[in-house]
Amino acid sequence: MSIAGVKGMNDILPAETPLWQELEATARRVFSFYGFREIRTPIVEKTELFCRSIGETTDIVEKEMYTFEDRNGQSLTLRPEGTAPVMRSYIQHRMHAVDQVAKLFYCGPMFRYERPQKGRYRQFHQIGAEVIGIDDPKIDAQVLAMLLHYFDSIGLLDVELQINSLGCPQCRPDYRDNLIRFIEQRLDQLCDDCRRRYVTNPLRVLDCKVPGCLAATAEASSVLDHLCSDCEEHFRQVRLHLESLRLPFSVNPRMVRGLDYYTKTTFELVTRHLGAQSAVAAGGRYDGLIRQLGGPDLPGIGFAMGVERLALLKGTDGLKPEGPEIFIAALGEDAAREAFRLMSLLQRNGIRAEMDYRCGSLKSQLRRADKLQARRVLILGEDELGRGSAPLRDMNDGSQRDIRLDPKGLNLLNELKSNA
Ligand code: ATP
Ligand code: MG
Repeated sequence: MSIAGVKGMNDILPAETPLWQELEATARRVFSFYGFREIRTPIVEKTELFCRSIGETTDIVEKEMYTFEDRNGQSLTLRPEGTAPVMRSYIQHRMHAVDQVAKLFYCGPMFRYERPQKGRYRQFHQIGAEVIGIDDPKIDAQVLAMLLHYFDSIGLLDVELQINSLGCPQCRPDYRDNLIRFIEQRLDQLCDDCRRRYVTNPLRVLDCKVPGCLAATAEASSVLDHLCSDCEEHFRQVRLHLESLRLPFSVNPRMVRGLDYYTKTTFELVTRHLGAQSAVAAGGRYDGLIRQLGGPDLPGIGFAMGVERLALLKGTDGLKPEGPEIFIAALGEDAAREAFRLMSLLQRNGIRAEMDYRCGSLKSQLRRADKLQARRVLILGEDELGRGSAPLRDMNDGSQRDIRLDPKGLNLLNELKSNA
């Protein structure tokens, strides 16, 4: 019996990797304009890091983490998200001692034990960015501008930016109490999860996707009506900067996000094309997180994009792999040896070259050249070896010309380079 991969964890096959490479390369290019530098952290962290940052009563920590003990009995977790590890690294390496402001980005796999479906997997990939050390609303707008710039660059225009503010430790408790009182009167309409955690985490109830919970909280008052003057002014400034940059957005006062560390500005980029998996990117401000993790009291803001969802939206159409520039067909032992030598020389010089290693009939070799979509075929037989030249056929127009064969393959190389 053959062994299949783990449920919810996908192979990214050669037909898809060109798109993935483009999605990553575009992020590297666009983010560099804004001063972001890449950081790579391990895939595994101490479990405590995620409990303390994401929050004990969130879906992720309650039921989605891949947690295990290593051989020493230490509890480790496959990272479910990228922000906490980046903050851990920032603190551990005392990056703030060199420069309090850090603009960092990361790409890589994340792990959550969720119910797999289109756009939702157990291993998925995120491209994310974080800014530490700046609380000015201009940076909120800048991060959103960069996110939209990225979507523009990869050609995904049909996405909507929704923003909200979740307040701060000054004003959120008041809103929480208010929400708990509201929910208490509707407990019988809520799902088990919400009934269990509404006291510890009432905001989660607003984020619950169960229809009964959605209906029960439809009339709940908005966090925006409870912001302190600081948070209100911050949010107003973010909106003004977005407007001055002419970036379209809407305010969604129900968006609370699934992680506890968010404060003030939160946002999502949503699409209509992925059903329930409507968020392609999400993030927000997390001003208390670094201190909470034992670091200095510095603000932060960031986002993460789901690469699978980006890839689904883009589709793999139009990204055909590039065929070889030349296919060398060889007839006979000696010709096969020379073809192999020439092919290797060309590859070493940066030319995509191929041959049929078994050297079957000319017909089968030409079929193979066709299948690989080779642009040219060099036909090498005993005759050609004897007279020191061989025909090079252009597979597009069928034209053919003789190429003189020299030991270093320079004629062939020049021909290919000059007609690239
Ligand atoms: P959702 O509401 O879809 O569960 P989320 O709020 O849990 O998303 P975040 O934790 O903010 O998502 O992660 C940011 C992005 O990562 C999401 O917008 C989404 O594109 C992607 N993402 C999150 N979970 C998954 C998953 N299980 N499979 C694929 N992509 C995911
Ligand atoms: Mg989720």
